[in-house]
Amino acid sequence: MKKEATIIGAGLVGSLLSIYLSKRGYAVKIFERRSDMRKENMSAGKSINLALSDRGIRALEEVGIMEEIRKIAIPMHGRFLHHTDGSTAYQPYGQEGQYINSVSRGELNKKLMDLAESHDVEIRFNQRCDNINWKENTISFTGLQNQEQQTTGFKLLFGSDGAFSAARLAHQMQHDRFQYQQYYIDFGYKELNIPPGPGGSFLMEKNALHIWPRGNYMLIALPNTDGSFTCTLFFPFEGDPSFESLNSKEKVTGFFEKTFTDALPLMPTLAEDFFNNPTSSLVTVKCFPWVREDRFALIGDAAHAIVPFFGQGMNCGFEDCAVLNGLIGKHQENWTDILAEYQLLRKPDGDAIADLALNNFVEMRDKVADPKFLLQKKIEAAFSKKHPDKWTPAYSQVTFSPHIRYSEALKNSIRQEVIMQKVMAIPGIENNWQEDAVEQRILQLLKPH
Ligand SMILES: Cc1cc2nc3c(=O)[nH]c(=O)nc-3n(C[C@H](O)[C@H](O)[C@H](O)COP(=O)(O)OP(=O)(O)OC[C@H]3O[C@@H](n4cnc5c(N)ncnc54)[C@H](O)[C@@H]3O)c2cc1C
Repeated sequence: MKKEATIIGAGLVGSLLSIYLSKRGYAVKIFERRSDMRKENMSAGKSINLALSDRGIRALEEVGIMEEIRKIAIPMHGRFLHHTDGSTAYQPYGQEGQYINSVSRGELNKKLMDLAESHDVEIRFNQRCDNINWKENTISFTGLQNQEQQTTGFKLLFGSDGAFSAARLAHQMQHDRFQYQQYYIDFGYKELNIPPGPGGSFLMEKNALHIWPRGNYMLIALPNTDGSFTCTLFFPFEGDPSFESLNSKEKVTGFFEKTFTDALPLMPTLAEDFFNNPTSSLVTVKCFPWVREDRFALIGDAAHAIVPFFGQGMNCGFEDCAVLNGLIGKHQENWTDILAEYQLLRKPDGDAIADLALNNFVEMRDKVADPKFLLQKKIEAAFSKKHPDKWTPAYSQVTFSPHIRYSEALKNSIRQEVIMQKVMAIPGIENNWQEDAVEQRILQLLKPH
């Protein structure tokens, strides 16, 4: 009899997981709450994009889909900063040749679903998981087209139904001493749009992630293949200024004119977008355990929702799939051992990237415009270039070094920050940072004590 697996949620992670399992000989069924996005007409300018980097790429390569995704990906080689006074600056992300990719979430999800189906995965749409009975090993669903309730059995089940996972709730409700932590930041986000220029041209530098850092808030923009940019405003819910205080079209336009002066002329539908598009919240979720014996695991955002400031949520979920796949091989289908090691490995990494992402929020929002921080980054970059075996910047460890675990990257980044604080305290560092003594000091601080 063929091995069976059931997945709740055909988002980015569930769809990729289904391909991995199918390639391992499982008959896979996915139950997805939404209707089939491939049959819907997505209107131009509504594309939402994500930064895909090395961890995600590695997982996509393993199932042979990356070449296709590359066709719809736009390389972003660095951050393009837009300052309040109208000046701009460019910060490369890593070394020459290192870049992240802007990819449409919808296109990626559709391609993953196509590929899943071509591997005989069955995706059932409009099926909302409501509950799981762990004694009977059954899942209850509501069919959203006819409100019909139904129940189905499972042998091996994965919850990849996102940050507000119903599978996780069912797991939590019937689990002794389940640990759960949910943390909302005081900032929400809203998607806005910069349309393409004449003939589908890009109205700003195409191959960069644009940032307008403004102390307490920021606007970012990622390029789309049609020449448009999807902008995201990360902004306080309350206070002045905030989503609450910008309560009329005049106030929104006036605020952008003053604060995002060079962006405003590129945003002809700003006021409409601002009031038509939802204001969404940003949550971090940590929980434990992620698994039940040999038959259930949480994966992706359902296990570890994080804030988006490191561009790693999806990349981390894709890496979960690749790690799980490795463990299936290692433990030869012994699911008790596979799942035990999966959570042992991935829980510390999920926690670490959640913390790194929250730290990066402060970095992107406040510090990328702070001269002292920029000098610190310059010193780090110069040292790292000279001693690549001794220093990899935290951003590069997370983004371009998939062989370094997130938990290691977090530990390394804390150690590096302690060292850099000492370096930045050297008198006259602003002028003498290129001197040999500074390099020697870093080398000395790096020696184990
Ligand atoms: C503003 C923003 C920007 C981001 N930018 C990046 C980025 O640049 N790079 C990056 O790597 N990550 C980014 N992320 C994170 C990324 O979006 C998530 O980590 C990723 O989507 C997680 O995939 P998932 O499949 O686990 O969950 P989801 O994408 O949320 O998919 C879950 C699926 O489950 C379905 N579902 C939900 N409930 C049920 C139910 N009860 N029954 C059946 N189906 C259900 C949903 O319809 C959905 O299809 C960003 C997130 C946000 C909010």
